[in-house]
Amino acid sequence: MSRESMPSGPYKDAVSYVSWLKDDERFSHILVQISHSFSGHAFPRLKLRYKPSLVQLEGGISHLPLLDLSMRAKPLTPSQWRSKLEKVNKDYQGNVNLNTTCILLDVRNGYEWDVGHFHGAERPDVDCFRSTSYGQSESEDIDSDPLARIDKENTDILMYCTGGIRCDVYSAILRQRGFKNLYTLKGGISHYLWSEGPVDWVGNLFVFDARLSLPPSSYKAEVEPEEFIKLEVSESSSFAKCHVCSTQLSALRHRNCANLDCNLLFLCCAGCTSPLKGCCCLECTSAPRLRPVLIGQQRYKKWHHYRDIEMQNSRLLT
Ligand SMILES: [Zn+2]
Ligand SMILES: [Zn+2]
Repeated sequence: MSRESMPSGPYKDAVSYVSWLKDDERFSHILVQISHSFSGHAFPRLKLRYKPSLVQLEGGISHLPLLDLSMRAKPLTPSQWRSKLEKVNKDYQGNVNLNTTCILLDVRNGYEWDVGHFHGAERPDVDCFRSTSYGQSESEDIDSDPLARIDKENTDILMYCTGGIRCDVYSAILRQRGFKNLYTLKGGISHYLWSEGPVDWVGNLFVFDARLSLPPSSYKAEVEPEEFIKLEVSESSSFAKCHVCSTQLSALRHRNCANLDCNLLFLCCAGCTSPLKGCCCLECTSAPRLRPVLIGQQRYKKWHHYRDIEMQNSRLLT
């Protein structure tokens, strides 16, 4: 099922739904996470859709042995993960890479990394997970790949993503390439923040719905919805940077580039939004399929919507 299948609703209904689900022994072991929404429904409509593949990867994923559990990384509980992180950060502060026995990989997209990530993590220098190539480098790009020179038998590789699916795909790729000690974070980042707090986490957590990013403290089990609004305002990440001017501000928001053919999801400050007409760079402002600047938390509609408005306007002018 796709992630659109996650419903949202009042807190007490969500809690009773979970306890109803867990009463059924087939689902009693399932890890369920509840996440607060500060501005009404995060998922106003329940949609069920079949998607043959949730993870997009260059070259496809059908050739990967994804159903073979032995190809997957070993899931660590949040507290096991935390002690491994201590090891990573000890290596990290010492001298990078040479005697590293532990590597921490963020396998999410650039726009997720930009608002927050684990301290000491590395990520491939590409915008999207689908073009990730760590561990697969040919000799010429060996310097930009932290997995290129490590001891495949004895180095621990810790991978994390939001919910764990991308790690399952990536660990199959790395296993095929001979990497032995692969670990993932059980339940993903949100489960870690809920269970351990923001230890070794920098910034906020990107989420795939209208809320876009959440402060780590919102994952504390005891936070009440009213309290959450205050947290959102006071704890907006101050480490994230505007993609355009690099200013570090707390009032940044994610927006898709107004140029439909770019559509990059990027962090932008209020000052850069109108001069660049909602685009990610100057070049995009003169692209042929430009959409209007979006206000607030709106998302772009389908292109024909803007094209029709444009056609109407040009008819009025002639
Ligand atoms: Zn800016
Ligand atoms: Zn752009």
